[in-house]
Amino acid sequence: MTNSAAEERASAPPAPHPETAPELAAAKAAAARKAFATWSRADVPQRVEALRRVWRELARRRSEAADVIFEETGKPRVEIEIVEFGAVSMLVDHFTQSARRLLEERPARVPWIMLNKRAAVRRRARGVVGIISPWNMPFLIPFGDAFCAMLAGNAVLLKPSEWTTKTALWLETAIAATGLLPEGLFSVVPGRGAAGERVVDAADLVLFTGSCATGKAVAARAAARLKPAILELGGKHPMIVLADAPLERAAAAAVWGGVANMGQVCVGVERVFVEGEIHDAFVEKVRARLSALRLTGPDAELGRFVFPPLLDRALAQLEDARKKGARVIGGEVLDRAGLRMAPALVLDARMDMAVMSEETFGPVIPIMKVARAEEAVALCNEGELGLAASVWSRDLQKAEALASALEAGMVGVNEPGSHYAFGSLPFGGVKSSGMWRRHGDEGLLMLTQAQSLIVHEWPLDMPDLWWFPYEKRKASLLARLIGLP
Ligand code: NAD
Repeated sequence: MTNSAAEERASAPPAPHPETAPELAAAKAAAARKAFATWSRADVPQRVEALRRVWRELARRRSEAADVIFEETGKPRVEIEIVEFGAVSMLVDHFTQSARRLLEERPARVPWIMLNKRAAVRRRARGVVGIISPWNMPFLIPFGDAFCAMLAGNAVLLKPSEWTTKTALWLETAIAATGLLPEGLFSVVPGRGAAGERVVDAADLVLFTGSCATGKAVAARAAARLKPAILELGGKHPMIVLADAPLERAAAAAVWGGVANMGQVCVGVERVFVEGEIHDAFVEKVRARLSALRLTGPDAELGRFVFPPLLDRALAQLEDARKKGARVIGGEVLDRAGLRMAPALVLDARMDMAVMSEETFGPVIPIMKVARAEEAVALCNEGELGLAASVWSRDLQKAEALASALEAGMVGVNEPGSHYAFGSLPFGGVKSSGMWRRHGDEGLLMLTQAQSLIVHEWPLDMPDLWWFPYEKRKASLLARLIGLP
């Protein structure tokens, strides 16, 4: 598609994708199970090689995918290239390099009185992983999660967001076209809640990314069926700026972290606490950077909201802040039908304003003055959300100590949050922001189950000492051998 044709479609009002017929969803689930039977027999190097080649093929065709992503989300093209594809590439590198270390059989320590046995831990794939994903990173999240799930030996049923289903369907077709994976190993079940529920029911493990409210419903449904669910939910990233912070970098981070992807980022900066001494200087720098952003034209650095209620929520939070005494700079609606607004700076923000305590998911940067950073840490820890947080100071030791006092799954020091691109780092939140982790060693291992193996090697004909018949003499000998105190 040409850029201008995609441009036109990106400004058309979005519409959610219709539901998959139940029979089709069931057929896709059956095909996934069949594909799993073949795929799980491939060894780790075979899976690594096949999936590497799949990614190379998708990366080669990424300008087609970028057109679809742009049409569905209106994201700046540079952001699509760097975030959606760049981060996937880094994840593919990391996990293809760690797959053998994590997924191949590993010997386990043997207690010395059982030295005639061998022990090992094997990682078995779960079966069908049901991935339920949001719309804000329509390529990165579904494909990144599916890649790891398939690398671990699973089949994938993806229920994409109803707002970004075309991107997922592009992926399904493009993966099938490579001919490198068993048919049905990766398939897409479009729709809304009903399709999501079908995917939960058909899966052996659910990997859900989305809002806290839906996450709770998904977790309850999975629990009722005794299925594990990894939950990656909402956040309210507090950026805590100390008086000795590197101001230029901190201001640039507040702006990028706060408004990139129109603020529709789970780890994006959602509120800033600044120590009094530098408050005014920091605000000035943020203001200057915000006004330098290109909001229109082919090089626009800001896109649009993905669907209408998001604009309304951001505007309602700004109105609530104004009513409670905040000064709002910017935040004008630029194009209601096109779902575009100017970024907003909220000054004199207070914790009783929605903009400081509820997820905004819009290009809004509220700034609150605090006497000391410790006050901000205490205020943040009182809240329910704990996904990402950051501390800004030239005193790295102090900043690290404050970061470790924050109740958050991911913290940064002078760093707004590139955690997703570090495959080595577990990604996820605490409290209402989620359960378990994706990425990191533990994230990949979560996509498998441990199978513990003992092989009795010698002497093959002899029963073990602790079997029948029980005798006092044997018990005291064993107690001595074990070293029972
Ligand atoms: P959402 O909860 O509305 O939807 C998420 C997915 O769940 C969608 O595919 C949706 O169709 C599906 N769904 C809805 N009802 C369902 C049900 N009853 N059963 C099964 N599936 C159901 O969230 P959203 O608006 O798509 O995404 C935005 C939210 O996602 C934000 O809160 C954001 O912070 C969060 N998010 C979190 C992360 C993370 O890694 N922690 C990453 C991106 C986004």
